[in-house]
Amino acid sequence: MIRLLAILAAVVLTAAPAGAASLIKGVRTGEHVGLTRVVVDLSGEAEWNLFVLDDPFRVVIDIEDAAWQLEARPDPPRGLIRDMRYGRFAANTGRLVLETELPVLAERQFMLAPAAGQGHRLVIDLRPASDTEFRSARNEAVARLTSPPPARPAVRDLGAGVPPLPPPRPATRMTVVVDPGHGGVDPGALGVRGTHEKQVVLDVGRRLRDVLVATGRYRVVMTREDDRFISLRDRVEIARRARADLFVSLHADAAPRRSVGGAGVYTLSETASDKETEALARRENQSDLLAGMDIAGSADEVTNLILIDLVQRETMNNSARFARVAVDEIGRTIELRSNPHRFAGFRVLKAPDVPSVLVELGFLSNPDEERKLISRDWQDRVARALTEAIDAYFRLRQK
Ligand SMILES: [Zn+2]
Repeated sequence: MIRLLAILAAVVLTAAPAGAASLIKGVRTGEHVGLTRVVVDLSGEAEWNLFVLDDPFRVVIDIEDAAWQLEARPDPPRGLIRDMRYGRFAANTGRLVLETELPVLAERQFMLAPAAGQGHRLVIDLRPASDTEFRSARNEAVARLTSPPPARPAVRDLGAGVPPLPPPRPATRMTVVVDPGHGGVDPGALGVRGTHEKQVVLDVGRRLRDVLVATGRYRVVMTREDDRFISLRDRVEIARRARADLFVSLHADAAPRRSVGGAGVYTLSETASDKETEALARRENQSDLLAGMDIAGSADEVTNLILIDLVQRETMNNSARFARVAVDEIGRTIELRSNPHRFAGFRVLKAPDVPSVLVELGFLSNPDEERKLISRDWQDRVARALTEAIDAYFRLRQK
């Protein structure tokens, strides 16, 4: 991307401004607590129009009667910004597109008059937005963009252009809770090269959310969207409160032997399928202890048959059904371990009314797998495979 930016910058630097009133001379980015600031340096005052679009999430800024004439390469994307593109949009409109990992909105946007040796500056502060806030802002933008003929046809669309209206949504969307394991003080498993399980599973979780939401068939609730600690009980509670139709907990394992590898799908059971899985459940169940939470009095839930008997059979059957489908689907994309569907007393899978599975994506203790687990391409493929599995599961249930 940096190279592409450099090429673009070179092209734009030499392009003659098309008689626009202002020149766009620079783009700077900075990080502040909870905000990412974007400063656009201009040769004069200008009108601008900011809107958001999704799939991927992005903020589009059209600066009226302005032409690009950068004096320096724009700052690299940072903070909430994942990628940046810019260029001429309509005859006299300069467009800046900021692609973001998560839904964001502009907390503030204002023009600063020249001061302290600096010229006119358009300042935009971006902040993370809730799904609801973002959706309403996006719908507003789409409605505006698709209403009566645009005043000027686009000369070249370097940004989003006008997206087609989304297809009508089915009346009820299934709710999927995506649960990236660990977080905050609890890093989870550690990779040979220092990768933290909590980071890998958050990355995959976000991608899974994006792919699921893009289908238009799911409402997605994340148990965490950043690096924070959430107790196992709270994760279960989030799923129940969301009245989730499915709960998918994402993890990555570590083993003493580096050669051990492969993904597995786990469900709740009063008896563990094997010693190894029993030990895995014990490790995963320690999350609360690591965070210094007192789970005295509930620690024995893991082996408490009476409590587990309260778990509805139906829920457990559905969990197992999803696990089987998931093994089939992700097995096409990533390597599975032997007997990929296993079970034990995982505390995070204990919602009595929400079918729940835990996916161990691979082993961070295996150098080859660690490399894959942190690759964006691999993470994307896993997110798509899990989405296929979720689709297949709900298709089955509708029969
Ligand atoms: Zn884990």
